[in-house]
Amino acid sequence: MISTRVEKILKNPILTKEDIVYLLNTRDKERLALFGKAREMKKDYVGNKVYFRGLIEYANDCKKNCYYCGIRAGNNRYVRYRMTDSEVLEAVMFAQKNDYASIVIQSGEQTNQAFVSKVESLLKRIKKQTEGNIHVTLSLGEQSEETYLRWFEAGAHRYLLRIEVSNPELYKKLHPNNKTHNHSRRLESLNTLRKLHYQVGTGVMIGLPFQTISDLADDLIFFRDFDVDMVGMGPFIEHVDTPLYQYKNDLLPLTERFDLSLKMVAILRILMKNINIAATTAMQAIDPQGREKALMVGANVIMPNLTPVKYRQDYLLYENKPCVDEDAEECKSCLETRIHMAGDTIAYGEWGDSQHFQERIKKD
Ligand code: SAH
Ligand code: SF4
Repeated sequence: MISTRVEKILKNPILTKEDIVYLLNTRDKERLALFGKAREMKKDYVGNKVYFRGLIEYANDCKKNCYYCGIRAGNNRYVRYRMTDSEVLEAVMFAQKNDYASIVIQSGEQTNQAFVSKVESLLKRIKKQTEGNIHVTLSLGEQSEETYLRWFEAGAHRYLLRIEVSNPELYKKLHPNNKTHNHSRRLESLNTLRKLHYQVGTGVMIGLPFQTISDLADDLIFFRDFDVDMVGMGPFIEHVDTPLYQYKNDLLPLTERFDLSLKMVAILRILMKNINIAATTAMQAIDPQGREKALMVGANVIMPNLTPVKYRQDYLLYENKPCVDEDAEECKSCLETRIHMAGDTIAYGEWGDSQHFQERIKKD
């Protein structure tokens, strides 16, 4: 018998923070009841379709020094690279040929004019090559309003900028204390992106040092209050070359961080029924079937990696990143089998804008 408490919570039309904390702490049958409800919500509101976003890890140079990230400016272990235009266009061609209707261009944060112009011209070339048939998401960090606008006008449609943690005090513990690493600035960037009519995605890391269950509940409430269109969140995984590595013995075990991530996905699906939620690669880094498990509790987006294999060893944000030696073709066939096993179908050829976004712009 499932306890009446969880049954009651899952029937509430609006979850309170207390409800969310309770759900994050569920175990055994109650946990399965949560997952069952999330799966039902996914089926009812977004269906069993999975959208592919081909991920291009464009460059690993970064001006920032986030304490958790392997490619932070202060880490000299990696060879800094930027993909050439033709390498990017080739990856885009792969996406097109294989009917991935959407790509994500991600990199370390660079704000110099040469980089901004390079991305702008690349976006124009992608638009021309694909005759506007591929939707482009950018994940290039905090930029000025002018830059966001230039990129939007050059052809970008969506932007992913994780808030990382919604608690400003916790943010301070995870970043150097200076102007480049500023929680309100990050929030402002999200607001600017929204104002410029991007489809906006954000997200958090789960299982960070100093992070509490109450923080995670607040993160979910933040997504709801911000009325976000897409979310990508996953477990924090320590990287040996980063300052947070010193806390490795104080962290939750990886399996618990993974389980907490599944619960975050499930609760978010219940809270925000028609948004797009990614089954993130960091989940697969902990559990080989991590992404499929996320699909089964509410996620509906997967980002197959299209970065040329020669660069992948230099884009290690965290340790044990999976698929570093699998090329795009191998990634694709391995994913197809896994997704069908999870009971979903791949929506080839569809842009897959979140229904939430479509309804939001009708209201605007
Ligand atoms: N530079 C851009 C995009 C690249 S980083 C930005 O920061 O927005 C993409 C994401 O990787 C970050 O938002 C962060 O949430 C995640 N990430 C970085 N280090 C990580 C780690 N050690 N474990 C899990 N995720 C990590
Ligand atoms: Fe740079 Fe993004 Fe890593 Fe921070 S998380 S160091 S901004 S790549």
